[in-house]
Amino acid sequence: MPIHICSTCGTSYPDADAPPSRCPICDDERQYVPRTGQSWTTPEKLAGGHVNAWRQLEGDLFEIHTQPQFAIGQRALLLRTQSGNILWDCISLLDDATKTLVRALGGLRAIAISHPHYYTCMQDWARAFDCPVHLHAADAEWVMRADPAVSHWDGETLQIAEGVTLLRLGGHFPGGTVLHWADGAGGHGAILSGDIVQVAADLGRVSFLWSYPNMMPLAAVTVRRIAAALAPWRFDRIYGAFPGRQVMSGGGRAVERSAARYVELLGGSQA
Ligand SMILES: [Zn+2]
Ligand SMILES: [Zn+2]
Repeated sequence: MPIHICSTCGTSYPDADAPPSRCPICDDERQYVPRTGQSWTTPEKLAGGHVNAWRQLEGDLFEIHTQPQFAIGQRALLLRTQSGNILWDCISLLDDATKTLVRALGGLRAIAISHPHYYTCMQDWARAFDCPVHLHAADAEWVMRADPAVSHWDGETLQIAEGVTLLRLGGHFPGGTVLHWADGAGGHGAILSGDIVQVAADLGRVSFLWSYPNMMPLAAVTVRRIAAALAPWRFDRIYGAFPGRQVMSGGGRAVERSAARYVELLGGSQA
């Protein structure tokens, strides 16, 4: 029996004769069910019509993105460190080519994921590379396929390798996490931010939403708290959830400015 993958969000569900009747991730207001109804695929069907494309973003950072686009369309990032590779965020498609290429790069030391929309097929990636998946405990209810590789962490920060630290910022999800990479951007530091700090279209701003598909904002107090939590961390670059979405320099100032403007608009008096 195959596992079942939601075609709208990419989340995987346990193997069964038939797909589940609903996808709780898509039923939530932070995602959506298409008007045409929910549809499902399997790993085999997905691999039959899609491939993973790779791009080297900087010396030790690779993007892995499924083409044609599948579900939400996020990228996974493979980060090389002295002590092994880390996969940041995850995608549903793990095909033979991707397994071979990741193994050729030295396999994975750990997987870390920003929030439940990108849990996808983390269980299969963890099994293929025999590594743990670090998820924030505040979002534990959103794991749809329990797996011994899932390791829930609590608190505000977790160092998972030398110079690689997970920061819980919350917002979009209570356990919403970004990854701080001290050696990124040529030693100036980088943040891998998923949907938690969303890189905007002008590549110089970021935004923060409760629901991206349904365009629902966060409270001013939450946005202020996110900006304050990032302020002590040194970073110049922000790699967002989607291909092409990165703030290449001035990332720290971009977060500060964007958060201030967001709060101003929420409390503003424009008609
Ligand atoms: Zn779904
Ligand atoms: Zn999301």
